[in-house]
Amino acid sequence: MAISSFNPPVRTLMGPGPSDVHPRILEAMSRPTIGHLDPVFVHMMEEVKELLQYAFQTRNQLTLPVSAPGSAGMETCFANLVEPGDKVIVCQNGVFGGRMKENVERCGGEAVMVQDPWGRAVDPQKLEDALKANPDAKLVAFVHAETSTGAQSDARALVELAHQHDCLTIVDAVTSLGGTPVRVDDWGIDAIYSGTQKCLSCTPGLSPVSFSDAAADKIKNRSRKVQSWFLDMNLVIGYWGGGAKRTYHHTAPINALYGLHESLVMLQEEGIENAWARHAHNHNALKAGLEALGLTFVVPETERLPQLNAVTIPEGVDDAAVRTRLLKEFNLEIGAGLGDLAGKVWRIGLMGHASRAENIVLCIAALEAVLADMGASINTGVALGAAQKALAGK
Ligand SMILES: *Cc1c(COP(=O)(O)O)cnc(C)c1O
Repeated sequence: MAISSFNPPVRTLMGPGPSDVHPRILEAMSRPTIGHLDPVFVHMMEEVKELLQYAFQTRNQLTLPVSAPGSAGMETCFANLVEPGDKVIVCQNGVFGGRMKENVERCGGEAVMVQDPWGRAVDPQKLEDALKANPDAKLVAFVHAETSTGAQSDARALVELAHQHDCLTIVDAVTSLGGTPVRVDDWGIDAIYSGTQKCLSCTPGLSPVSFSDAAADKIKNRSRKVQSWFLDMNLVIGYWGGGAKRTYHHTAPINALYGLHESLVMLQEEGIENAWARHAHNHNALKAGLEALGLTFVVPETERLPQLNAVTIPEGVDDAAVRTRLLKEFNLEIGAGLGDLAGKVWRIGLMGHASRAENIVLCIAALEAVLADMGASINTGVALGAAQKALAGK
């Protein structure tokens, strides 16, 4: 039997990522493929690095996209900065902090865990206590925006504490970049990684990373080679580093990089402060609607991410049945709970191009229709008005 072309439906993506991809980015990705050492392509690579410096708010020379998804950016930071025997303090307040621990241990390091409740920010006091108890620690790692819960930690304060104790920092900004302030230079972050499919409105598959001069020095002066050949920044830089000596390391994902370039051009056009403000404004509107329905947020207001809204599933409501109906009847995807929160919460993303008024209205209306039809005890007839009022800034 002949298999025919794959034609996916058009969905509205309001989960934890991927989020809606802007049509301009899809169009950019369909442009002609050229060689990865073609001078025209090399010129575009230099622009991508410069645009990423803007997105990260940094002048770090070692700023580039790793040719693989966010998890590979995470692995790049740990594989390059952790040497066997190194002690690393990992702050965990959700799923992704657990993956950091895995990374430390697979690099032969020792992970000292600082645990905070899921749904709360990382507590700086607990980090300080751990730093005092472990004066031999070399690195501190934490997730800025915990996508599994919707909690945002105070990256500036955590980095400052780490530096007071002579530790370098690894920060997960997969969900924060482009959606909420990330200021690499002002905050002194040493190594940071992100992803393209969350607040950058791009397709999945690339991971922007940036390393401070101190982190770059540490990578250059390691006592042993980085265990991973593909992720070794000392080798990757031979291709991404620029200059006339640029040589083949791996074949860059050419068309995916056209997409990232376009998404970063769009971020520059909007202005990064305006992008942050848009995410905050739209979060307020979604929040007004969800609370009018009677749903409650998992994370306390002051620790909440605007781009990832975790709400508790009402008593007696079938989690999977609701999400299936939203997908089938409204082409709307929202996220399920992860880990400890599986079956207990929904995660509603307002990331990048998905963070816009029409998505908020669709999400509130569709949730109300499905929940009311299933007999859930929610308030009907008030949520859309509440969201619209907040959208209008009233
Ligand atoms: C999505 C996500 C990742 C992993 O990114 P992938 O592109 O799925 O590999 C890592 N950390 C956080 C906080 C994320 O939200």
